[in-house]
Order: sequence, then structure tokens, then C-alpha cells
Amino acid sequence: MKYLNSFKLQFVSRSSNEGFSRSAVAAFLAQLDPTVEELSDIKTAVSEAVTNAVVHGYGNRLGVVYINAYILKDRKIIIDVKDKGKGIEDVQRAMAPLFTTSPESERSGLGFTVMEAFMDKLRVRSKPEKGTVVHMVKTLRAKE
Ligand code: ATP
Ligand code: MG
Repeated sequence: MKYLNSFKLQFVSRSSNEGFSRSAVAAFLAQLDPTVEELSDIKTAVSEAVTNAVVHGYGNRLGVVYINAYILKDRKIIIDVKDKGKGIEDVQRAMAPLFTTSPESERSGLGFTVMEAFMDKLRVRSKPEKGTVVHMVKTLRAKE
């Protein structure tokens, strides 16, 4: 893939790293001078993906969460959030609004719905016992 800029980040799946990773992505994207709303949407989407990796992917274990971010031409950005955790049996079902496997822990099953709403494109690839990759694409508004 041809890109203008990129960064990779990996961190231990502690929930205390969620804010850090979201801010790291925001700091990287600052070079595109996004609107407050665009930045807030992207941070929310990244946060949901990272939380899922920590909470569902690794559960009580500690693993590594990977973020690969790319800036392509015409203000297109790609953010991949990956874990090598337990994976998802049925991705389509998992992505349905309100579907959750943890109703007891105040999860609402809206993480994927939020990612889909705030990004232009969302692709999820997952294999049980191998892990999950959440691929998110968004094109920022052109600067005048
Ligand atoms: P909420 O995000 O609203 O707190 P949730 O995390 O359950 O609730 P989603 O983020 O939409 O809702 O995820 C739906 C379901 O997909 C999860 O309950 C979980 O079963 C599964 N899932 C999501 N991400 C992962 C992942 N990285 N690894 C394993 N399972 C996942
Ligand atoms: Mg979630």
C-alpha cells in the first residue's frame, strides 16, 4: 500500500493504556489539522476497538495490542487495531447492534456500531484462538 506517512504502536493490554493509545493516534493525525469533530470521532472509534481488544480479545490475560496507522493521499486515513486474543466466532453476529457476550458487565453491544457510525468504512477480520483485526478508514474533509 502506498502511503504518505505511518506509525506503529504496540502496548500491553492494560485498560490504563486505552487513553494513551487514543491520544497517540490523535497526536499523529494532528499534522492533517482535522476538525475537532473529526478528531473526536476517530478517538472514539479507536477507543472502542482498543477496549474490545483488551476486554474481549485478552479478557483476564495480558497480551499485546497493535495499532498501525496510515495517512494516504487526499486526506485518507487507515487505522488497524489488532490483537492476538481469543478471536470472534461469528463476526457478522458480533457486529450487529446490541449484540454482546458480556451483558453482565454493563456492556451495551454498541462498540462496532459506534465505530461504523464514526468512520467511513469498517472491516473486521477474526479467527477463533488467533485474534482480531479491526480495519477502519476515514477521509477527512478537504481544507479550504
Ligand atoms: P460495548 O462496546 O457497547 O461496551 P461490546 O464490547 O460487547 O459492548 P461491541 O464492541 O459491539 O460490544 O462488540 C460485540 C461483541 O463482539 C463483544 O461482546 C465480543 O463478544 C465480540 N468482540 C468484539 N471485539 C472483540 C475482540 N477484539 N476479540 C474478541 N471478541 C470481540
Ligand atoms: Mg465494545
